[in-house]
Amino acid sequence: MSIVSLAICNDYARDRVLSAMREVLAPLGGMGSFVKPGQRVALKPNILMGASPESCITTHPAVMGATAELVREAGAHPFIVDSPGAGIPNSIPSVRQTYKKCGFADLGIPLNENLEYVFSPAPQARITKRIEILKALLDADVIINMPKVKTHVFMVLTCAVKNMFGAIPGLLKVGYHSKLSTPERFGGMLLDILEAVRPTLNIIDGVQGMEGDGPAGGQIKSLGILAAAPDAILADFVICHLIGFDAGMIPYMAIAQKEGLCPRDISEVQVHSTDPIEKLMLPFAPPSTLGAKSGLVQHQFLRRLVNPMLNYALTLRPEVDKEKCVGCGACVSACPESIIKLIQGGKNGQVAHIGRRGCIRCFCCHEMCPHKAILLCKSFLYGLINRHQI
Ligand code: SF4
Ligand code: SF4
Repeated sequence: MSIVSLAICNDYARDRVLSAMREVLAPLGGMGSFVKPGQRVALKPNILMGASPESCITTHPAVMGATAELVREAGAHPFIVDSPGAGIPNSIPSVRQTYKKCGFADLGIPLNENLEYVFSPAPQARITKRIEILKALLDADVIINMPKVKTHVFMVLTCAVKNMFGAIPGLLKVGYHSKLSTPERFGGMLLDILEAVRPTLNIIDGVQGMEGDGPAGGQIKSLGILAAAPDAILADFVICHLIGFDAGMIPYMAIAQKEGLCPRDISEVQVHSTDPIEKLMLPFAPPSTLGAKSGLVQHQFLRRLVNPMLNYALTLRPEVDKEKCVGCGACVSACPESIIKLIQGGKNGQVAHIGRRGCIRCFCCHEMCPHKAILLCKSFLYGLINRHQI
């Protein structure tokens, strides 16, 4: 089924979300087309970190609640399963705390605490032939992927495809960033994970999203929609169209297009919406890192020539804002190259310090800082080269 369905939903009031959820699933045959009585249904949200629903970093609990209600109406048994972002340990206390902060603890939906993972062989994969995947996801009869629409400083967009990176448990994500440090290799790995986990249905929380330097440090933006589709790549393609992004500038979408898995024009997708799609479009500000990724250093030959010599000068670099840093250490455990340390200083006695060498520009530190204390700074040369592109 190559349909992507859209429904207007302007806020998170319970009844409104439930009615929009029914509306968005109707063209796909309703929830009963995807889940059967007695099945165990994994709802996989985006819980990057423990953050309040109002911060728009995680999938909203009202969307989780409405989905669970429809799963139960279909006679099946929903549960929520995810592992937080890079650097957060995959331990029961930290997962419990993350669920609680995201507003999932009071929904009356079972929360997965089985942290075991299995090595899933992926012989046909582009990049990763063996992937560590949360066992609870693989054991489920049905997986419903439930991302939020956000920009992403490394991957440009995080939505249905990128959300499956959460299938990799906790700190193991750090290793993937370290081994796959280029956008192309990381993007290829995301497609490998999607193919290994294969969600049956994707339900996207686009009521409120994030633009700019997401997935945690950007600005909240109301898109006012729920989206649903069986195909995660098609769903992301339509979301790109709605927020004014060319899918080809997103590393994993560009790979999917080359492989014929993703269309190049919106006319190739069957979009079902009660309102014309043009009325639902709302441009999002791209991440500030996009300039470097679409410019001179994106040219394969030039990049080989300048790396590693000028790489630092031609990409944004992370820097600690000592006024905002509270010394919590989240960036220290998120950094795949172990170049961030806590040193004496700052308002709380400890402050993060980023070493001068070894940064691979994965921006995990920026992504995982709960206080927006990692800045993305331009060098003079970067500003000069990218001034017409940002
Ligand atoms: S930069 Fe952010 S994540 Fe790192 S120690 Fe400071 S507040 Fe914590
Ligand atoms: S300091 Fe560099 S390598 Fe470490 S997390 Fe930040 S961007 Fe990644």
